[in-house]
Amino acid sequence: MAEEHTALSVALSQLKLASKKLELDAGMHKMLSQPKRSISVSIDIRTDNGTVGVFNGIRVQHWDARGPFKGGIRYYPNITLDEVTALAMLMTWKCALADIPFGGAKGGVCVDTKKMSKHELERLTRRYVSLIFDYLGPQRDILAPDMYTDAQTMAWIMDTYSQLKGYSIPESVTGKPVEIGGSWGRTEATGRGVIYCVKQAAENNGLKLKNAKIAIQGFGNVGYHAAIAAKETGAKVIAVSDSTGGIYCPDGLNPPEVLAHKEKTQSVQNYQGCRNITNEELLELPCDVLIPAALENQITCKNADKIKAKMVAEAANGPTTPDADKVFYEKKICLIPDILANCGGVTVSYFEWVQNLTREQWPLEKVNRKLEEKMTKAFNNVVGIAAKQESDMRTGALMLGVGRVANAIKTLGLWP
Ligand code: NAD
Repeated sequence: MAEEHTALSVALSQLKLASKKLELDAGMHKMLSQPKRSISVSIDIRTDNGTVGVFNGIRVQHWDARGPFKGGIRYYPNITLDEVTALAMLMTWKCALADIPFGGAKGGVCVDTKKMSKHELERLTRRYVSLIFDYLGPQRDILAPDMYTDAQTMAWIMDTYSQLKGYSIPESVTGKPVEIGGSWGRTEATGRGVIYCVKQAAENNGLKLKNAKIAIQGFGNVGYHAAIAAKETGAKVIAVSDSTGGIYCPDGLNPPEVLAHKEKTQSVQNYQGCRNITNEELLELPCDVLIPAALENQITCKNADKIKAKMVAEAANGPTTPDADKVFYEKKICLIPDILANCGGVTVSYFEWVQNLTREQWPLEKVNRKLEEKMTKAFNNVVGIAAKQESDMRTGALMLGVGRVANAIKTLGLWP
């Protein structure tokens, strides 16, 4: 019978595979399988109607051997410590793979943002930051946006951190608005980076992107910007979806128009000239490239065999389970793994941090050029390892990321 997967069981089995391939000793494997610190807090806020709201908040700091902890925070109703731990672990490998000097962390608050006013979200964000304040900071742990958090959330975080310190500290957070020290290109970096990888993989696999059919699950920050960047390559975005369902249009969609419709109606569905489909149907559409850009565990042993795409680029973290990986490998479907495909976000976050520390602001062209350089290098490194190992790209990516972290820990030694 197929195994039930959780985000943490998947992350641990990936680490086990990489550790085996890299011949890491048992002690190193054990150290890497545990986060350095997990913080759990109770966030109490005054609601708009005068009652008290109590929300659970988490921050997990996995490993910081290569630099300060770095990772997003997500607001979602059913977040668990295990899920955040898995995502923190992925961040550690991702930063190492992208060769940026950060460790991995992740945070989350159990909250349904759709049921909160903007004022309530602001109070919740500020209270959460105050509760984990001692463990944050530009040289300690730097927050960034993730699901259901955005540039405004980061502005509140920067302000709270700065107020508590007594002076302005833009380098305490990334993904903030440009007018308070955010980087040009950060908002679109993750989606844009996914398409840089798709371009490289298409070249390697002899797939022409002009008129290629692309389906995208999730139409938030990452999904939307991946759709824009995909269209720039000449490809057709034939389907997109959000938590309410999806839309399918074989002739191709116009992403900004679909976004305007979503902003007006709170859903991508019922968009003119398109057929409504479910999220499950979207994944199984005949297309060249499938981009899961929403949640974990979307492609499992139950539907992997039904995927018709030639290439899957994991914009989301952990959308494919290990048994689905095997199906893709056997069917020769090219899978660009999450820690490579979506590392554009943290890469431009790193650029933002550098710009803040030096009090500079780089032009968009410089940000995008440096992003493409970094991602192309990471992509080629992963392809090189996968070819040498005769493995899939996920194994190559994990070996690169885990191997760099293990080397850093070995070199630093264990204190005392
Ligand atoms: P977001 O909140 O902007 O968008 C999330 C999207 O997923 C929304 O369109 C939402 O409607 C959709 N969604 C939610 N539940 C769904 C469901 N059950 N089925 C289908 N769609 C559903 O979040 P985001 O920042 O775009 O993040 C998306 C994914 O990318 C997450 O896995 C996140 O961890 C990953 N990621 C984000 C960044 C970043 O820079 N934002 C960086 C790296 C990885």
